[in-house]
Amino acid sequence: MDIMDKTGPANYPAHRYTDDRIDVQLNCRGAREYAKMSFPVKYGLFSRLETREMIFEFNLNQEIRHAKAKPPGWSHPSEWLKRTMGNDWVYYSTGGYAGVVESIGEYYLPNLMYQTNSLLGGKPFDTPEVLGILDEWHPVLSKIDTRTPGMPEAISHWLEQVKQVSPETLAQKAKDLFDISGARSMVLPPDARHSDYDIIPLTLQDGCLYKCRFCKVKNKKPFVQRSRQNIKDQILALKSLYGKDIVNYNSLFLGEHDGLNAPMDLILYAAQTAHEHFGFHNAYMQRPMLYFFGSVDALLGADDRLFENLNGLPFHTCINIGLESADDKTLSLIGKPITARQVERAFDRIQAINQRYRQIEMTCNFVMDRDLPASHNASMLDLVRGKMGHTSPKGSVYLSPLQFGNPSREVLFDFYHLKTQSRLPMFLYIIQRL
Ligand code: SF4
Repeated sequence: MDIMDKTGPANYPAHRYTDDRIDVQLNCRGAREYAKMSFPVKYGLFSRLETREMIFEFNLNQEIRHAKAKPPGWSHPSEWLKRTMGNDWVYYSTGGYAGVVESIGEYYLPNLMYQTNSLLGGKPFDTPEVLGILDEWHPVLSKIDTRTPGMPEAISHWLEQVKQVSPETLAQKAKDLFDISGARSMVLPPDARHSDYDIIPLTLQDGCLYKCRFCKVKNKKPFVQRSRQNIKDQILALKSLYGKDIVNYNSLFLGEHDGLNAPMDLILYAAQTAHEHFGFHNAYMQRPMLYFFGSVDALLGADDRLFENLNGLPFHTCINIGLESADDKTLSLIGKPITARQVERAFDRIQAINQRYRQIEMTCNFVMDRDLPASHNASMLDLVRGKMGHTSPKGSVYLSPLQFGNPSREVLFDFYHLKTQSRLPMFLYIIQRL
């Protein structure tokens, strides 16, 4: 271990305490890099509390992060609940069949509490076992006696802190997080799956260029970039809000909908300043990641030096471009004010950047719906198959169902049919908020 490692056991000593009611493990050391595994992996530094019926995990701010019940109150031992920084609960399921990893590139399927465009999954938030955890986790914690004879001071102190973090405290903290940037991020880039959506959101700009008719996550704000001072203020406020748990983060999302359209200097300033202030160089989680969205116009107008500079940053950068369709008829139908010719040029530039820069992956999105003209899929396949001389593992293509709250086997079948023809990795985009 690096002696400069501030997240080593000397600073986060492990403690364990067990009696006939609870088992507590402080400062467990999880994996330091995100990985795609077919079994549940624990990441970061965290603490764990087991009662007779339930298992909870907490971050370094003593905030609940994961929860599940023990059998017989929980039917799937390898499934669990995760609470996000936006204070949503996400239920991670195996999906019940083998197609999850082929569909979304991950072994576990996130089931969300709100309506989204997912084609997969059930309704875990309607089940008594999940509702039981969401209702009971804090009352269960509140009843734990911290003055039990023989309980070490470190354990009773930690339990007292855990008990003070109520659902109301967590809701207020999420609101404080949204207030730092001015609004909740209603959509995160699909590439953020590589960090299990554990990102720190830093707003570089508000709004977007196009205000497409089909889009369900747009807002009314015109595209406006933030000032350097505003970005610096956000960074300081975020550092304070994430507190001790910031060592468990290594991923930055530069919002809002079109970070790539911000000036090069501002993008680089935001990434470098955040890296320095958030201490990504000696975080517990390794291999820093940078995520943002870009529009077709932003990509076509971007200076080559931006990509040169991004490639030299201590991040692996993923930029997600909303192409939506390479068919003029479809673009007009969905109300996206760009042309198929622009989309084709943007697609070519994405491939060129992916080939040239090791530390950058550009990905893109296309819409998917049974009611779109046949020319939509045909023109998309001309790009993802016809234009590609060979298969490539880099540059994922995400298909985004247009309909929300409408899982459909037929559309899933269409997806698999397209995926088998693509020479680029192809996945479904499940729209997820912060
Ligand atoms: S798809 Fe992108 S550019 Fe179009 S309205 Fe939505 S956020 Fe804006």
